[in-house]
Amino acid sequence: MRSMIRQWLAVHSGLNIAIALFSAALIGALWTVVIVEQRAERASVIAEAVKQNTNLAVAYEEHIVRTLKGLDGVLLFMRHEYQRLGRQMDIAGYIKDGIIDGRLFNVLSVIDEHGYIVISNKGEESRAENFNHANQGFFREHQLRRNQDTFYIDKPVLGRISDVWQVPMSRRIIKPDGSFGGVIVLSVEPGYFTRFYQKAEIGSQGAVVLAGLDGVLRARRVGSKLTFGEDYSKSSLLQEQAKAAIGDFVSRGGVDGVSRFFSYRTLPGYPLVVAVGAGQDEVLADFARKGRRDSALAMLFSVVVTAFAGVLMGTLARQRRAGIALATSEARFRAAFEQAAIGIVHTSMDRRYLQLNQKYCDMLGYTRDELLGQSADSVTYAEDREDSSHHRQQLVSGNKGSVSAEKRYVRKDGKLIWVNRTVSLVRDHAGQPLYFLHLVEDIMERKRLEAELRELAATDMLTGLPNRRAFIARLEEEHARLKRFDAQQAAVLMLDLDFFKRINDTHGHPAGDAVLRRIAEVINEQIRQIDFCSRLGGEEFAMLLAGAAPVAALEFAERLRRKIAEIVVMYEDKSIRVTASIGVAALRAADDSADASLLRADRALYKAKETGRDRVEITASEA
Ligand code: GH3
Ligand code: MG
Ligand code: MG
Repeated sequence: MRSMIRQWLAVHSGLNIAIALFSAALIGALWTVVIVEQRAERASVIAEAVKQNTNLAVAYEEHIVRTLKGLDGVLLFMRHEYQRLGRQMDIAGYIKDGIIDGRLFNVLSVIDEHGYIVISNKGEESRAENFNHANQGFFREHQLRRNQDTFYIDKPVLGRISDVWQVPMSRRIIKPDGSFGGVIVLSVEPGYFTRFYQKAEIGSQGAVVLAGLDGVLRARRVGSKLTFGEDYSKSSLLQEQAKAAIGDFVSRGGVDGVSRFFSYRTLPGYPLVVAVGAGQDEVLADFARKGRRDSALAMLFSVVVTAFAGVLMGTLARQRRAGIALATSEARFRAAFEQAAIGIVHTSMDRRYLQLNQKYCDMLGYTRDELLGQSADSVTYAEDREDSSHHRQQLVSGNKGSVSAEKRYVRKDGKLIWVNRTVSLVRDHAGQPLYFLHLVEDIMERKRLEAELRELAATDMLTGLPNRRAFIARLEEEHARLKRFDAQQAAVLMLDLDFFKRINDTHGHPAGDAVLRRIAEVINEQIRQIDFCSRLGGEEFAMLLAGAAPVAALEFAERLRRKIAEIVVMYEDKSIRVTASIGVAALRAADDSADASLLRADRALYKAKETGRDRVEITASEA
């Protein structure tokens, strides 16, 4: 887990962390604003709805009070007229004359103290029933409360005559002697109290309620649905009313499962409470729609910000990863460059040093600063410079990927060193040349070994003179030269020690070796710088005298023979003398091969041996 975090931190720079934090903060701030705004707006929408409900409840209250006052006014007027006129009172006449408004009520009756209808707007039919009202609620109420003249609003009852639900409202009749004289009653349908209901004002889920403090619902209307007469004592409306005469509350899915914001008012002077409720869903519909839209927008914005931040962070992380990879590979390259066992150099297209490693500096004895910016050609030995521009041409034209050559470089201290230099051209991605890459290998040791081997291969180990192979090579070289320059001449001498076997036999092989070494010294001393001598093998020596005519060669051979005859080789207190026979032959341009002259010299040598040894002979035709 920790390594994952470390890895994440490695590729996500501080900038990326800042981007992540900034995006998170931006989204957090946005949602905070959205949520706070939504809360505030919801509260204000509800407050607005409650305010409107309160206004409606006030209006409803006024309407009901006005209605009740009007109805009570009718009752008071009728009672007055009844007390004045008795059974002569003509209700239909009052209605017809417009003294009372017949539309306000359904039934209007006068009931005597025994419960029988005396007069009614419904005429004879009500009396024909001869129905006794003595057991009805309103009758008993007035009978019981003898001394109180109250306007009594009864519970809804099913009308005997009309066969519709009615809310009876009544006042007692007082006889002149002050005793109970019956009841004057009128009734209205429960819907009468909800005429006030305006759908447009309180919505299709809005409710208007008129409830009695006696716990009986007088009327409740939601849309076109009217209810009444129910037990309302457990309703939240009456519970709230018990706490305060006016107020508001939220009914949570009451009777019909709809939550409402209610405002209610207790009617002054009446045991009634009115309430107006607006459906919560309706109140909050616009707010909810706007809230959903705001949330969707905020969500969209969050997604966009997150996606944008993600893409940005991904890109930056990729760049950083690439940067890390590049830095790593550069560090690796630098280490390889610096620690390489061979010199590595970058030079510009005009051959100036751009970069060089320590090994290169060490090879040349310069410091890095002495070389940087200088021309790379300056260290190349003058004779080895000429092929460089041709090589560069090949690299630039793309004919060759790299060129190698062994060259001599001049160190700062003036010494020459041999190097094997491989040059290639580094190009950019578009193929444009960038710089030359030189790999410079110090091959001094190899060169030295090669020279040593060459020398060894050409040298006779006993005497240190060139051996037969070296002599034949030199002879061929001279023969070729003769062929080119006809005027020139040269001679070959072959020398064989006389009776050398005896020296070995008499003094031992090591003594023979000592003699051979001494003879070699003498020959080497005698010949000129331009001449060449060799030990062909055994006790046989050969010489090539450059530019020597046969006569001069003969003279030289004679001098050498005498010199050898004079020397005394001291070996372990023994003095050893030796003589030599010498055959001389001229080198001829006409010869097919260089060997021909050697063969002639050999024949002359044979002749010298034949004719007594310790002498010089020359091939007959050349004398
Ligand atoms: P001649 O006058 O006919 O040349 O007589 P010679 O004894 O020199 O006869 P030959 O040339 O046949 O003998 C050469 C002798 O040289 C034979 C060999 O023992 C001796 N010899 C050859 N190589 C070496 C050498 O490297 N060291 C020594 N000590 N002796 C050698
Ligand atoms: Mg011999
Ligand atoms: Mg011999």
